[in-house]
Amino acid sequence: MTKMQFKAESKRLLEMMINSIYTHHEVFLRELISNASDAIDKIYYKALTDDSLTFNKDSYYIKVVPDKETRTLKIIDTGIGMTKEELENNLGTIAKSGSLAFKTENEAKDGYDIIGQFGVGFYAAFMVADVVTVITKALGSEEAYKWESEGADGYTIEPVEKDSVGTEIILKIKENTEDEKYDEYLDEYRLKSIIKKYSDFIRYPIKMDITSS
Ligand code: ADP
Ligand code: MG
Repeated sequence: MTKMQFKAESKRLLEMMINSIYTHHEVFLRELISNASDAIDKIYYKALTDDSLTFNKDSYYIKVVPDKETRTLKIIDTGIGMTKEELENNLGTIAKSGSLAFKTENEAKDGYDIIGQFGVGFYAAFMVADVVTVITKALGSEEAYKWESEGADGYTIEPVEKDSVGTEIILKIKENTEDEKYDEYLDEYRLKSIIKKYSDFIRYPIKMDITSS
């Protein structure tokens, strides 16, 4: 499998971001949840104009799954997903804000505003993760793909199996350092408070199983 390189400006931006843009690393979760919500909005919009689609609100949600054993944090959504081309275009170029174009295109339809974070959103994941994996299946597509990256070094894309439409982001959470206890991003209660702080306005359910006693 060939490793694709990020565009040059993306590389610089990614390094800058990981090192300094956000002081509060916890905002990575706000960015990923806002992307998940945007992806569900896109299905909602499709359903408004496409009679073959019905938007059943109960089938659309975001799920956050921490696992201390594998040191992974998953953010799962039942949104519109991405094709292989969309993976390349959307996650291969940093600061290319797709939701800005989408917003101006759709805003007029019904005044339904899309709350989007612009710019570097997705890459905020690298502030807390060594490896970021995206498994996704686009609406109307038979194929699913896995995008994976360890940061500025580039990314790979390969076909995978996935039954349902939507996206799963898997973060391999960094090991603790003296300055930062990354472990907290695997803790259900800590995650819950981050979600409450930054994602309270999200209009789809954000689910998390509480397992610890
Ligand atoms: P922005 O949200 O401002 O467009 P991001 O860096 O946060 O910038 O995301 C880049 C793009 O990647 C999005 O515009 C979207 O097209 C795509 N994307 C990211 N996360 C998801 C997701 N969960 N489902 C579908 N598409 C996504
Ligand atoms: Mg975003």
